[in-house]
Amino acid sequence: MRIGAIEAGGTKFVCGIGNESGMIEDRVSFPTERPETTLAKVVAYFQDKRVEAIGIGSFGPLDIDPSSPTYGFVTTTPKPGWANYDFLGEMKRNFDVPYGWDTDVNAAAYGEATWGAAKGLDSCLYYTIGTGIGVGVYAEGKLVHGLVHPEGGHVLTRRHPDDAFEGACPYHGDCLEGMAAGPALEKRWGVKGTELGVDHPAWTIEAHYLAHAIASAILLLSPKKIILGGGVMKQEQLFPLVRAEVRKLLNGYVRAESILGSIDEYIVPPGLGDNAGLGGALALGLEALRKAAPSA
Ligand code: ADP
Ligand code: ZN
Repeated sequence: MRIGAIEAGGTKFVCGIGNESGMIEDRVSFPTERPETTLAKVVAYFQDKRVEAIGIGSFGPLDIDPSSPTYGFVTTTPKPGWANYDFLGEMKRNFDVPYGWDTDVNAAAYGEATWGAAKGLDSCLYYTIGTGIGVGVYAEGKLVHGLVHPEGGHVLTRRHPDDAFEGACPYHGDCLEGMAAGPALEKRWGVKGTELGVDHPAWTIEAHYLAHAIASAILLLSPKKIILGGGVMKQEQLFPLVRAEVRKLLNGYVRAESILGSIDEYIVPPGLGDNAGLGGALALGLEALRKAAPSA
């Protein structure tokens, strides 16, 4: 089986080919430019690949409601040229195959539930903490779409008592993304996150915001696994800080072994590592093929 996968990020695009086991056999990556330029590269890549289906996990916001006239569009992004861009339509005009189409983080959550850290579980949350913060929600064996799609990166959190930073989100100022995404770290401390030492107080503050959002998500959705990916989570010292803070915030109220006992296995990095995004897109493509040809 040859399935195409597209991880469409605001900074870079990754295209690849994979199979039904989640194995990625080929991949290319290029920077995200204006949509016409970027999609021309995507189309050129898949031209001779003979894929049976294509899965796309994209930066957003997106229209993922199949009954909407603008299904398949990137909607309100400030990224030049991408607002109201018919991404899926452009792909369909070039390749007549079944398509999976979802947010980048929903795709990653699905990939993790299919082959990664949440394999065998019917729920998980996937957070990416990078240029922005996004949350993919997989619950009761399905990706959650809802009204538009979850926007868990913009939840409101409680301010850290030592933090006077006003926040960097153009919509909400001090929402989670405004306080804890890579650009917020850089703006608050005046240097990139990669330049801050592992013992810098930045990480305690970072963990505070992430843990507040995660504790609320646990209370609301009761996910069976929480996966934290994205560039900022390369700072591995964040994991124990976040776990300890989540436990402290919940204060024994949620009576689950995953939280009270083995929280090290509950809040984890992506099982697919740096392939979480592309692997997720692959899982979406595979699902689209199965829906189109149920015996496949
Ligand atoms: P994107 O979100 O654009 O897809 P990333 O997940 O790599 O890409 O996130 C990029 C952001 O994460 C930048 O703000 C960058 O400064 C920050 N970042 C990347 N790597 C690290 C790291 N090792 N430590 C801290 N911050 C990092
Ligand atoms: Zn916000």
